[in-house]
Amino acid sequence: MFPRSGVQLKTIPYLGELPRWLNLALRVSEDSTHDQFKMGCVIVKSGSILALAANHHQWGRHCEKRALSRIDNAEGSTIYVMRANRRISKPCFRCLLLLKEKQIRKAVYINRLGQIEECRV
Ligand SMILES: [Zn+2]
Repeated sequence: MFPRSGVQLKTIPYLGELPRWLNLALRVSEDSTHDQFKMGCVIVKSGSILALAANHHQWGRHCEKRALSRIDNAEGSTIYVMRANRRISKPCFRCLLLLKEKQIRKAVYINRLGQIEECRV
């Protein structure tokens, strides 16, 4: 759950092909050097990629944080987060706080039921 009240969730059953940006995030996640959490993300605004990054093996090098460090202004953007094994890819609590701080509008990821979940930040 987002660390904030008034969260809006939109859950879509995950059947068949992934939507475009989640598919790109999936490919980015395959470059992750983290054994357990091979994660990748793409930050998109108005149909353009602002940044993308994969998890680094060192603790604290989460893909969301790495991607955000590469851009000056993420306001109003959407972040798509995927995990290489296509399991749960929800951003961790600390990253969710960071997304909020950076004024990212929406996060899209795979929830624990294997569904695509959209969450307004
Ligand atoms: Zn994180």
